[in-house]
Amino acid sequence: MSTFNIKADRAFTVIRKYGFIFTLLVAIGGLWFPKLGLLVIPVMIGLSLVSFYKGRYWCGNICAHGSLFDSLLLKISRNNKIPKLFKTKALSIIFLAAFSYKLISKFLKVATLYGTASFFDKLGLIFVSSYLMVTIVGGLLAIVVAPRTWCNFCPMGVMQKISYKLGKAAKVTKLTDEKVTASKDEMCHKCGKCSRVCPMQLTPYTQFNEKNQFDDLNCLKCATCVQNCPAKILTIVNEKAAEVLDDKICLDGYENRQRIKAKIIDIKALKNDIYEYTFEFLGSTVVNYKAGQFILVRIPSDEEMFRAFSISSYNEGGKKLSVTIKKAPNGYGTGIIFENFKVGDEIELEGPLGNELIVDKNSQKILLVAGGIGITPFIPIATDIINSNNNIEEVTLIYGANKEQEFIYINEFKSLEKANNKFKLIPVVAFDEQWKGEKGFVTDYMKKLNDINKYKIYMCGPPPMVNASLKVLNALNVNKENIYYESA
Ligand SMILES: Cc1cc2nc3c(=O)[nH]c(=O)nc-3n(C[C@H](O)[C@H](O)[C@H](O)COP(=O)(O)OP(=O)(O)OC[C@H]3O[C@@H](n4cnc5c(N)ncnc54)[C@H](O)[C@@H]3O)c2cc1C
Ligand code: SF4
Ligand code: SF4
Repeated sequence: MSTFNIKADRAFTVIRKYGFIFTLLVAIGGLWFPKLGLLVIPVMIGLSLVSFYKGRYWCGNICAHGSLFDSLLLKISRNNKIPKLFKTKALSIIFLAAFSYKLISKFLKVATLYGTASFFDKLGLIFVSSYLMVTIVGGLLAIVVAPRTWCNFCPMGVMQKISYKLGKAAKVTKLTDEKVTASKDEMCHKCGKCSRVCPMQLTPYTQFNEKNQFDDLNCLKCATCVQNCPAKILTIVNEKAAEVLDDKICLDGYENRQRIKAKIIDIKALKNDIYEYTFEFLGSTVVNYKAGQFILVRIPSDEEMFRAFSISSYNEGGKKLSVTIKKAPNGYGTGIIFENFKVGDEIELEGPLGNELIVDKNSQKILLVAGGIGITPFIPIATDIINSNNNIEEVTLIYGANKEQEFIYINEFKSLEKANNKFKLIPVVAFDEQWKGEKGFVTDYMKKLNDINKYKIYMCGPPPMVNASLKVLNALNVNKENIYYESA
């Protein structure tokens, strides 16, 4: 079943991974050793101080309950949409008031015991019982709704927001408060992944401010969105750093971005789970896309959301384009596309985008490396090299698959090879005893190329293929400046 929210790893530091041990120690161990509850006092001082300078940084990076929710309970959570009720200000305020009232009355009661032997045990027990309550209520909500449901109305979270507002009023946060920042929003795929992986289910990609920063009081600065952004445009920096971030990014390949209305004119099944969709632009629209670029296809869904697909057609006249889509197992976007897109439907595109796979036509030797669905941009790329005037003398395409029957467009590449002797196709199969051609992985063939240092290399495929190839090319001392790649 495909769902909007993705269970992405959120525990990428030791504290975030194992911090929950502290929670269990205090909430459960404290029932036998109540003084363990006193450990919560420095925690409360710590989070109040940190939030004054950095907002809810503590919640996303240090909080032991946060670790319990993200590191342990995410795995068994239903990870559903958090109901609006839990996100209301009113609930947070009522909860904070009730919590504070209860805590203060308990403190006043225990204060009367000051100087007796049981004072510190009774004081510790106040914190133990509140830690246990959060563990039980927050834990149940984490399993039944979503891991960070509790964090939307947690009294400590509300306290941090108040402390942060004071820090802002005192003008101390400009350098200390680091926010999620898009280095260039022109490069954003609007894919919504930052929102789909966000523990708080926030939507950074629709809410960047004029400085391209995501200024939301509930952002935990946990960097889960940063780690998962396919465009690699997110970072966490302060306001000052955000002002200069922009200047370092090259926007070649993104300058022609536009919203395009189009009609589906053809859908071709290449395999059970791979379809080629052809779109014709409506009206007088002409889009001059380049071989190697990709386009964003709008997903008809409640959220404003697109998916990036490499353009698999060669541009002749700028009136239509094709994309070739593999249905992802439990994929949200491809699930909707495969189910809903019909010939004759009007759809929206955005683009063209991308420069990583735009081939340098002044080079003499080009090596193209493809794996799986990553083959699709190489149809227009190979066609363009053959059709246009350029200095390229030799193009080799290494195309890897696990089994021979997984290859697509193989006849098209064979025809290009026949028609032009500068293009060479090397299909490589990893797991097929009957296969008569090159066996193994694309990296095995790379190692056989004696003059690999003379090539400009362009790769597209799944992350394991691209990462393994980068490792091999590094070991072969290939200059990094000659390596370009795109990976989903
Ligand atoms: C520049 C670029 C070009 C691309 N070109 C192409 C192309 O030409 N053809 C193509 O088919 N794709 C291409 N992609 C990939 C494409 O954009 C989509 O990412 C892909 O189709 C999957 O989208 P989806 O919404 O169906 O899957 P998603 O819902 O995003 O899921 C992706 C995968 O994540 C996992 N997942 C989903 N939900 C969960 C969950 N709840 N918990 C844990 N794991 C989960 C599943 O394994 C799933 O298969 C490209 C991507 C980029 C960035
Ligand atoms: S590319 Fe996707 S994940 Fe990255 S900022 Fe844009 S919408 Fe978010
Ligand atoms: S927006 Fe990003 S940093 Fe903020 S809470 Fe969501 S995933 Fe974490």
